Amino acid sequence: MQEDNKLSPVPLVAPAARKSRQARVVWGDRVVAVGGDAPVRIQSMTNTDTVDAIETAIQVKELAQAGSEMVRITVNTPEAAAAVPYIREQLDRMGENVPLVGDFHYNGHRLLTEFPDCAKALSKYRINPGNVGKGDKKDKQFGQMIEAAIQYDKAVRIGVNWGSLDQELLAELMDENSHRSAPWDGRQVMYEALITSAISSAQRAEQMGLDGNQIILSCKVSGVQDLIAVYRGLSARCDYALHLGLTEAGMGTKGTVASAAALSILLQEGIGDTIRVSLTPQPGEARTQEVVVASEILQALGMRSFVPSVTACPGCGRTTSTTFQELAKDIDEHLRSQMPVWRVKYPGVEKMKVAVMGCIVNGPGESKHADIGISLPGTGESPAAPVFIDGEKAMTLRGDRIAQEFHDIVQAYVERRYGAAKV
Ligand code: SF4
Repeated sequence: MQEDNKLSPVPLVAPAARKSRQARVVWGDRVVAVGGDAPVRIQSMTNTDTVDAIETAIQVKELAQAGSEMVRITVNTPEAAAAVPYIREQLDRMGENVPLVGDFHYNGHRLLTEFPDCAKALSKYRINPGNVGKGDKKDKQFGQMIEAAIQYDKAVRIGVNWGSLDQELLAELMDENSHRSAPWDGRQVMYEALITSAISSAQRAEQMGLDGNQIILSCKVSGVQDLIAVYRGLSARCDYALHLGLTEAGMGTKGTVASAAALSILLQEGIGDTIRVSLTPQPGEARTQEVVVASEILQALGMRSFVPSVTACPGCGRTTSTTFQELAKDIDEHLRSQMPVWRVKYPGVEKMKVAVMGCIVNGPGESKHADIGISLPGTGESPAAPVFIDGEKAMTLRGDRIAQEFHDIVQAYVERRYGAAKV
């Protein structure tokens, strides 16, 4: 062992500071700051038919209640554009002031021009430079959308996607590459096309008079390593606020893990100002799952807190029943379901740590590290479950009502500690 005076501490690790300028997304008197030193924001997107204003407003509200700070809706037809002001109205009636983002492809220039109430009701327009038009129509139609953003003081996201990349630009860069003495790899040309499309479109929007702090860029791809490469390049070449997401991430565990892997690396490097997890819902799965995953990524990185965290052990041969699994699940679901009310009533509760452990080996220790924890009895242990509050053993639960009693103890703790803003 080294002598004490030769030891040096293991360096602390934290996400790097973000370098992007701050953008603002405005709705009424509400301004959501994006980029700079603002928190990394969570976005999501509805999968309802926008024409159905009620169903869409309900899903927007569900996504917002789950923690989405901006919600994108498809605006693809005149009927959808006509429904947008009603969706906004419904949300306002429900007291939900989350900003709405309109997703435009192919006909956005027409819809924003012909439906001014739609243009006004949205807080941000998503423009895909690969889908604004071809040939000499491209610049004109892109310009019309930027003019609407300037006229109504809206933010835009210039959202490039490699599934709909500007083919004329790609062909031009491929041709340029073929004349290089040492041609780049085809994927590097693709990266260049994505980045060039986003930045040159943003510069054009600024030349037309759109403020740079109303511009957010994204370059979405579906491969983890590709996303990391593209965003590192994009971040090195501009200081626009960046929206980050692995597009078409897929379903379930695959989509969740791939998104977490890609986003975590970039967020740790200070890249990314808003995020979306593009999960394909499994049959019967709530659309809000993508918001849950996005918030868990930010919370796991220590960047933001959204819901109290539940530390639970995986269980092993020392546990013979599923009691602790059921209790961990029950507590986790209970805490999450309470958050829409608790967020307002108990400020700071989102930072609370709860432990639900399966036996004496790590149970008491882990429970003491949490704000409130329970160590359930493992195989051969006496049928008692000590509860620890603020690091001290507070009581021991026994019998068939352990779950309900622990539930009540957590509720009482939340009221005592976080009630009346005692953070
Ligand atoms: S705390 Fe106990 S039950 Fe849980 S994983 Fe560790 S040894 Fe197994």
